[in-house]
This record gives sequence, structure tokens and C-alpha cells, in this order.
Amino acid sequence: MRKQTPVSSYAVALALGANLGDRAATLAWAVGRLRELLTDVGVSPWRDTEPVDAPAQPRFLNGALVGRTSLSPQRLLEALQQIELDAGRERPFPNAPRTLDLDLVLYGDVVVDEPGLRVPHPRFRARRFVLEPLADIAPDWVDPETGRTVEELLRELDQT
Ligand code: ADP
Ligand code: MG
Repeated sequence: MRKQTPVSSYAVALALGANLGDRAATLAWAVGRLRELLTDVGVSPWRDTEPVDAPAQPRFLNGALVGRTSLSPQRLLEALQQIELDAGRERPFPNAPRTLDLDLVLYGDVVVDEPGLRVPHPRFRARRFVLEPLADIAPDWVDPETGRTVEELLRELDQT
């Protein structure tokens, strides 16, 4: 049976990534956890990608997931970080290889700019490994900061 969508809920888009351990198993496990947290979940195909800003690291498996939540952006980020920890995520240094990375990319048309949380995710427009899978499942979502759709942002990236 379909889970009921809460009356007051927001559409959210997440980026998933893994480059340590059994990447596909970890991402599949993470999707299971996210299905407990969100309603109306949609998942992109995974893509095997070159590490960005982190040379000499294993390749990533990346994807995007959309869903709806009644959690605030801050509570949602906390929940994502708990799932990362449960996947064995460690942060020995910035951009270290990771068993699981869960980034909050878009939260409706809400803009958040706080220490520790920026939404839309500040680097998603430059990241093909986020825009391509997101365009698979949410091409028409409008980025509240640029007014561009995900599909347009991807096309602009293709032209640079
Ligand atoms: P990466 O940028 O490689 O994903 P981390 O996953 O270690 O790095 O995240 C670093 C910090 O980024 C986190 O501690 C978190 O507070 C912060 N952050 C800010 N905005 C976001 C967001 N939209 N989604 C996820 N993390 C965010
Ligand atoms: Mg992250």
C-alpha cells in the first residue's frame, strides 16, 4: 500500500555517492533507509563516475533520489548524516573517500544559507554527477537561485 503523503510536505532532491566498499550494496541499502524517511520516492539509475576534486581515489557510484518530507531542512540533514554514520562514514580529511555521501540538493523552492547548511547545495550546478541523474528523474525542477530548470543547468554545463 502507498504511504500517505503528509499534508504539509516538501519535495526534496538528494545526491547519493559512494567510493569505498561495495558501492552498489551501500547505495541500495541507503535507498531503503530513505524510503523509511520520505514518501513518493523516485530513484535515478546509478552512474560510475570519475572522482572530482579528489584525484587518486577510487571511482564513485552516484545517483539522485527525489521524495517528499515534512522534516525541516535542518532535521532532514541530521537524518541524512545519521544514515551516513550508520553506513560507516568517516571524515578523516576533506574530500576523503567515503562509503556513503548524502547531500541535500534541493528542498522545494526554499533557500537556506546557514553555517553547516546551504540549500540549494552550493556546488550542484557544476557537478555533472549530480545534474545528470537528477535530470533523469526531475528535469523540470526550477533552481530557486538561478531560475533555471535542472535540464537547463545540465545543458549549460555541457556547453562550458
Ligand atoms: P561533501 O561536500 O564532500 O559532501 P561532507 O559530506 O563531508 O562533504 O559535508 C561537509 C559539510 O557540508 C557537512 O558537515 C554539512 O554540514 C555541510 N553541508 C552544507 N550544506 C549541505 C547540504 N545541502 N547537503 C549536505 N551537506 C551540507
Ligand atoms: Mg556530503
